Amino acid sequence: MPATSTMTGAAAAKMRAAVLTAPHSLAIEHVAVPSLEPDQVLVRVSAVGVCGSDVHYYEHGRIGPFVVDGPLILGHELSGRIEAVGHDVDPARIGERVAIEPQRPCRRCGQCRAGRYNLCPRMEFFATPPVDGAFAELIAIQSDFAFAIPDAVSDEAAALMEPLSVGIWTCRRADVGPGSRVLVAGAGPIGVILAQTARAFGASEVIVTDIDAGRRELAGRFGATRVVDPLTDSVEGLDVDAFIDATGAPAAVRSGILAVRPAGRVILVGLGADDVELPVSFLRNREIWLSGVFRYTGTWPLAIELVASGKVDLDGLVTARFGLAEAEGALAVGGEPGQLKAVVYPGR
Ligand code: NAD
Ligand code: ZN
Repeated sequence: MPATSTMTGAAAAKMRAAVLTAPHSLAIEHVAVPSLEPDQVLVRVSAVGVCGSDVHYYEHGRIGPFVVDGPLILGHELSGRIEAVGHDVDPARIGERVAIEPQRPCRRCGQCRAGRYNLCPRMEFFATPPVDGAFAELIAIQSDFAFAIPDAVSDEAAALMEPLSVGIWTCRRADVGPGSRVLVAGAGPIGVILAQTARAFGASEVIVTDIDAGRRELAGRFGATRVVDPLTDSVEGLDVDAFIDATGAPAAVRSGILAVRPAGRVILVGLGADDVELPVSFLRNREIWLSGVFRYTGTWPLAIELVASGKVDLDGLVTARFGLAEAEGALAVGGEPGQLKAVVYPGR
């Protein structure tokens, strides 16, 4: 994993990175290039998407139990080009353009061995304290978590394979397939990507709600077959096969559940209140399945395929671009009207 720590050898090489030093304070610093373990590749970072969690760490210094208590490099949605390889990695990989799966499971615990490595209790995840992220010129990652991308896929789209992976994992858990009718609450980057992914999985109807008219308009352009303003129109009784919450808002969770058919599914993706009141008798009497989603396992190959084949458009979601020195601007721009996804280019 990337670390601002050591480089073996006499003079440790340095690189530029945008380092979160305190809430609301990002400094461009020269830090040590991450050292390479035998199974890792060193990647020159091309593009990094800004996620709500980066913004949250920047503004509040913590997300639930994860507290920033030292300098931290943000950014976990990234692409780049392989610049060097560890002892055990084929040097032929040098020069490859890659999309990065920004996590390192232990590969040995019960969850890892059961194929659910996203639930590994020893997971190291980029830009989650104390693990550094990708607002930096270089990162290190185990070779099999750096996925080659075709020339036709842009650096931005390759970086956004990460939120697309959330969409894929969610649609799998929601059992979305040909002919599915799906309700998505929230048309932020995740909701908009979910709408496209559900369509790519064969959903015939994808209804997206958002309280923001601009966001509803975006959802309509990217995958939604219908958009709904939850403040004026109720979704209750739609009898959809699956409801996916991408807001974390208690009102959206509650009304979305009431839109699900018997034996349908409810998938909670959004982060919000820790405790929410649920319509329990409705869930029980309809035998509705309810699950959370925590990131993803094994999604990059399909993500790359969906983008390369044109079934999912990630390039169209990018609304602002910044060099490394302007990374702070990238963290601030997300909430502005008309904005969806900001991207930082550490090489600029
Ligand atoms: P975002 O904040 O950009 O989008 C959320 C959208 O929900 C906004 O457009 C907002 O207007 C809308 N909204 C708020 N209240 C609403 C309501 N009552 N009804 C309908 N819409 C409402 O966030 P995002 O980047 O799109 O991510 C969505 C959520 O998913 C966030 O909470 C994020 O933290 C979470 N997330 C979870 C995972 C995971 O692994 N579980 C991964 C990535 C993101
Ligand atoms: Zn594990």
